[in-house]
Amino acid sequence: MEELRNEIENLKNNLSKIENEEYKQCFDGVFSILEIMNQKIEELTINQETIEENIKFMDDDLTNIQDELFEELSIDELNDMEDEYTEIICPHCDKPIFMEQSTLSKNDEIPCPYCNKNIKGI
Ligand SMILES: [Zn+2]
Repeated sequence: MEELRNEIENLKNNLSKIENEEYKQCFDGVFSILEIMNQKIEELTINQETIEENIKFMDDDLTNIQDELFEELSIDELNDMEDEYTEIICPHCDKPIFMEQSTLSKNDEIPCPYCNKNIKGI
């Protein structure tokens, strides 16, 4: 960033030796544009850096959350979770349906997602 600023400054110094008024005006216009652009670029760069930092923080946070999630679940617990899901075959259309064991035991009527008939009634 410093580099660009210096180069603009150098160019300005070199061109300030120009005597012709019309050229001078012209270059002054170009320089004010260059300076505005340079300023904008600096702003954007700073914003970009801030965003990158934030993303890094978010990434760290996510890693922590992931670590916590996986720490808290032991293999046994994962097996338990799997056990809670059960596959049943719809008696009407013979399609396999996965559902939680608790849903299955708590409800008398469960509509089959395929044929809409009650999978607990025959
Ligand atoms: Zn069915």
